[in-house]
Amino acid sequence: MPAILLEGRPIAEKIKSQLKEEVMGIKSRFNTAPTLATIQVGENSSAAIYLKSQKKFAKDIDIGFQEHPLPASTSEKELIDYIEKLNSEKSITGILLQLPLPNQINAKDMPIHINPLKDVEGMHPENVGQAIFGKMRIGSCTALAVMELIKSTGVDLYGKEAVIVGHSEIVGKPVSLLLLDKFATTTTCHIATGQRGYLPTHVKRAEILVVAVGRPGIIQGEWVKEGAVVIDVGINRVGEKIVGDVEFEKAAQRASYITPVPGGVGPLTVTMLMRNTVEAFKLQRGR
Ligand code: NAP
Repeated sequence: MPAILLEGRPIAEKIKSQLKEEVMGIKSRFNTAPTLATIQVGENSSAAIYLKSQKKFAKDIDIGFQEHPLPASTSEKELIDYIEKLNSEKSITGILLQLPLPNQINAKDMPIHINPLKDVEGMHPENVGQAIFGKMRIGSCTALAVMELIKSTGVDLYGKEAVIVGHSEIVGKPVSLLLLDKFATTTTCHIATGQRGYLPTHVKRAEILVVAVGRPGIIQGEWVKEGAVVIDVGINRVGEKIVGDVEFEKAAQRASYITPVPGGVGPLTVTMLMRNTVEAFKLQRGR
């Protein structure tokens, strides 16, 4: 039976109107709105597209949005000083460091410098630690987007076999943690799993399959278990087309639910960023 298409946009629209209402309430209570400051070091065309959609979303829900472009030659020390300056500005309630960063800056070393209460991407070690203790305050936007999509299926995760392919800090690891927190039995696959040829073995028993690798068609359609929920996070340009990591047509014949690429996880990622921005404001104001 062909799978039900799990589209991100309808869920995103629903959350957007909830956020809009919440922001209205915040404004009347505190006489101010959450304000997100984004730092972009140098120029990047894909970051520019992401920035444009963030700006539009912020306008739609009526929160503040500030752009802080820095030159491509910015050193790590200069960036840290800049982040600390934004940390100390009370009117700025969320800070987002746009990726990619130039080579002289180690992106993985930056989240620790953002005030954890303003860390709208949930990458500060303190926020990651909260997630480990099942007390997540602000989490990875993409991981939260994945969880919203799974939640929309109504599938009970308790005791389910969940397989996550990819173990990046931004997607694979936080998704694994969030699924574990729901009592799914999680297996996280990575480069070594692929190299040892075990990827099909794990994928074939996944009732929940989340793929975040960045390689088109790495997950063959026939590996997908009948009735599985398939969340494809991958974004790959193949010629003129954008495709995911899963062989969509074949997988859709076996899965119960499957995300399209584009149109699945993507539209929800910015939504989760904005939800985190509102959460960050509430945390700073003691709720
Ligand atoms: P990443 O940091 O490059 O991580 C890719 C992961 O895949 C790594 O953990 C890597 O393992 C693993 N991997 C590589 N080859 C493998 C193989 N043969 N078998 C199993 N695992 C393998 O990328 P990312 O930031 O997590 O992003 C992953 C994909 O999601 C990309 O296409 C990205 O564009 C997309 N993405 C989409 C959104 C969205 O909003 N839709 C958001 C974020 C990312 P090792 O580290 O061990 O090599």
